[in-house]
Amino acid sequence: GHKGPQPLANPVPPFPGTPMTRADHDPEAWHAVAAHDVAARLGSDPVAGLPAAEAARRLAAGGPNVIVEPPGVSRWWRLVRQFRELVVGVLLAAAAIAAALGEWADATAILAIVLVNALIGFVQEDRTHRALAALRRLAAPRARVVRDGLRLDIPARDLVPGDRIELEAGDHVPADARLLEARALAVLEESLTGESAAAVKDAAAVLPADSPLGDRRTIVHAGTVVAAGRAAALVVDTGMHTQLGRIAGLLAATRPDDAPLEIELRDLCRWLVGASLAVVALISVLDLARGDSGWDVLLRSVSLAVAAVPEGLPAVVTLVLALGLERLADRNALVRRLPSVETLGCVTVIGSDKTGTLTRNEMTLRVAVAGGTTYRVTGTGYEPTGGFFRDDGGETDPIEPRAHGPLRLLLTIGATCNNATVRPVGDGDRWGVIGDPTEGALLVAALKGGVGRGTDAEPVVFEIPFDSDRRVMSVVVRGRDGGHVVYTKGAPESVLARCTHELVGAVSTPLARARRDEILAASAVLAGCGLRVLGLASRPLAAPPAGRGGAEEADVNVEEGLVFAGLVGLIDPPRDEARAAVATCVAAGIRPIMITGDHPATALAIARELGIAGEHDRAVTGTELDRTSADELAARADGVAVYARVTAEHKLRIVRAWQQRGDVVAMTGDGVNDAPAIRAADIGIAMGRAGTDVSREAADMVLTDDNFASIVAAVEEGRGIYDNIRKFLHYLLACNAGEVLVMLVAAVLGWPPPLTPMQILWLNLVTDGLPALALGLEPPEDDLMRRRPRRPRERLVGVGRGLAILLHGGLVAAAVLAAFRTAGGADPARLAHARTVTFCVAAFTQLLFALACRSERRTLWQLGLFTNPVLLVAVAASALLQTSVMLLPPARPFFDVATELGADWGLVLLVAAAPLAVVEAVKLLRQSRGGPPRAH
Ligand code: ATP
Repeated sequence: GHKGPQPLANPVPPFPGTPMTRADHDPEAWHAVAAHDVAARLGSDPVAGLPAAEAARRLAAGGPNVIVEPPGVSRWWRLVRQFRELVVGVLLAAAAIAAALGEWADATAILAIVLVNALIGFVQEDRTHRALAALRRLAAPRARVVRDGLRLDIPARDLVPGDRIELEAGDHVPADARLLEARALAVLEESLTGESAAAVKDAAAVLPADSPLGDRRTIVHAGTVVAAGRAAALVVDTGMHTQLGRIAGLLAATRPDDAPLEIELRDLCRWLVGASLAVVALISVLDLARGDSGWDVLLRSVSLAVAAVPEGLPAVVTLVLALGLERLADRNALVRRLPSVETLGCVTVIGSDKTGTLTRNEMTLRVAVAGGTTYRVTGTGYEPTGGFFRDDGGETDPIEPRAHGPLRLLLTIGATCNNATVRPVGDGDRWGVIGDPTEGALLVAALKGGVGRGTDAEPVVFEIPFDSDRRVMSVVVRGRDGGHVVYTKGAPESVLARCTHELVGAVSTPLARARRDEILAASAVLAGCGLRVLGLASRPLAAPPAGRGGAEEADVNVEEGLVFAGLVGLIDPPRDEARAAVATCVAAGIRPIMITGDHPATALAIARELGIAGEHDRAVTGTELDRTSADELAARADGVAVYARVTAEHKLRIVRAWQQRGDVVAMTGDGVNDAPAIRAADIGIAMGRAGTDVSREAADMVLTDDNFASIVAAVEEGRGIYDNIRKFLHYLLACNAGEVLVMLVAAVLGWPPPLTPMQILWLNLVTDGLPALALGLEPPEDDLMRRRPRRPRERLVGVGRGLAILLHGGLVAAAVLAAFRTAGGADPARLAHARTVTFCVAAFTQLLFALACRSERRTLWQLGLFTNPVLLVAVAASALLQTSVMLLPPARPFFDVATELGADWGLVLLVAAAPLAVVEAVKLLRQSRGGPPRAH
């Protein structure tokens, strides 16, 4: 038996906080079990996998396949907490001093404020937390398994020991698994072993039980990445039982985020703290000089200091971002890092793949060229109904492909050099493909022609997988006569380059130069109609290649001396919504470009149809890029809308070229090789469906529907979110500035303080918080996608905005001071009454002013009073809180509410509405003077 603890290569102590320790789980040495033994020992079937019911039972018994991470606190949260704790600490200290001095009313009031504030804070935090948790669930990894003989795509957390999983290049290995079959499999295990070179795996080996971790060629480990090849394996350990699970607690956290917004907010807060402390000190000196008591001055300065610092800011920003992420997810864009939301709004260039992103990736074979004859193929989608017609016009009857040798061979190559499956999906009335849609289309065409991969199909003994840099794929099959044959398919020029002969009739004839050019011209004609073109070829092989399968391992070069068999053309219609999305981009000052591995003519045809390229544009190919220097590329990038036949490396160069021009680039990618370009882009975008795990891991954003339109929607959301952050920032800072100005002006003029410390605290921590939050939920303004992109270096609060904030603060302060004087603030006998009026005016001025902050350019009526209902509710709730403090007798003494307002309510509302009215009037005035000035 293989039971018993096995020494690890690098023995790592289990993470102390995790439930699983070595003591309660003796790992079986699965690497030492032979491939043919594994299934029996796991109670599974090597081909059909587990029955679904058994998998469910094992999941219930063994728990989900997840790594329990030690709880961590993000930097955002730490930031938020700091401010909270600072403010709360100061207030608690003030309460303690108040109690010590016997000022019980003050002490109680402060505690009540702290409590209400904490409650609001908790609700915010909780909401943020839930939003982020929901997103994490959406972004959870998936795995391809076989259960009951059916291939399924399930969440990786549902894997159980015994599951048959399938892996290919770019996949994350979802659990520890023993290989059953492996073709040219190489796995990056750096996260486990520290070894950066890919480890070559081998299903057939049987290893000694004491092999160190890095030498276990027969096992793939959770948390590692498939670099090349494909494999099938049986899961042996899941979750915390995997090698990754044992060291989970020791793994470094994800890469640090540099969040410009966070840094800017921190700078801003630091600046505000400095400025407000200076003002508070000044006021205190003035107050002391006038002979106020020490305690009064202290309490006033504390409350003012608390008022001036926008303590709720970081929390609100996080919440607004988190809610934004939720809305983005609804629009099919999962943003993996909070700060990316902010960058989205600055995007000036979107580099997009063609296949699947701009097109539907629903391939149907339309044209086949074999043996000098062109055939049309009918039918739609993946449903295998349709026929083959000779394309010479006259004939209207379908032909029988099995009777046409060259066509039959063409279809056989397409169906055999193929890893896709097609089958009815949903209710069975539609057919779908599992695997590569290009291969699905070839399979469907073969089925239509009666040339299937049925029982008489030749078994594949060797495979060189498709790779978008090589653009070909080959298999070696054992024919019915016992001999071996190579089948190859790929981009026509790549296949032709490997051909020496061509099939004419039933004989292979040498390929002359002129004939090659003819074939390439024919393929360009098909591509010019927007078809995706593939060339197919074959060759008998004297002996099957040895090696595990893969271009490097084969002992004979199977992909040479091939006999060209013909061309096929597939349609892949553009997505309906892509055209409109391209137009939106252009209106929004964003440049859409197409970057594809496909033929330049195909790319250009589709790009023209979508409006990405005009009549006179041409496509720049990868070969041309190779001859262009980085500087030249940057200089010319502006003039190129379509790049074709590019490799992942070219993508990286294109990203860099645009960045060199000062542009903010969003770039899509799906393959393993695309990861560097995705990482280099300002917004790296991966595909949720067709993409590899590796590309998703590198991305800032994952599209759940692989759709170009979703990128544009995300940019719109990004702009809207940033706009809203600016709106509530403006609001909060203007309110704070207003309060400080009220106290400063009064102190300078030698007036008694218009507001008491408790009133200031209440105004700050209770009344303006809810409206600020609601401003963060403003719907996007109509012209959001008709503005230029925001400049990335533009500050959240620049000089212009700073002045506007001060001006608006001054407006609020003027209203409050006017109310104070009108209500008799100069008369010591009426001071208490005047303060009550002032308190109320200050609260309502701020609440109404929130309505003015909804837009910089458009008035409330133009926006529609009811278009942000949350704000109305927030204002109403805060107004209710304020009136209850004014009206409820027990609350009054705490907030120095001295008298009934009575007739003064009219004055209160009139004065409180004044700043709103002024701001709205100014907006109208600016509009009448030649339209609203652009903010950007
Ligand atoms: P995009 O970058 O827009 O997604 P793409 O998907 O068209 O482009 P690739 O997948 O790299 O780009 O395909 C490039 C070329 O390789 C295609 O034009 C086709 O000729 C060929 N090709 C695509 N898929 C396969 C395949 N499964 N087997 C063989 N050749 C293929």
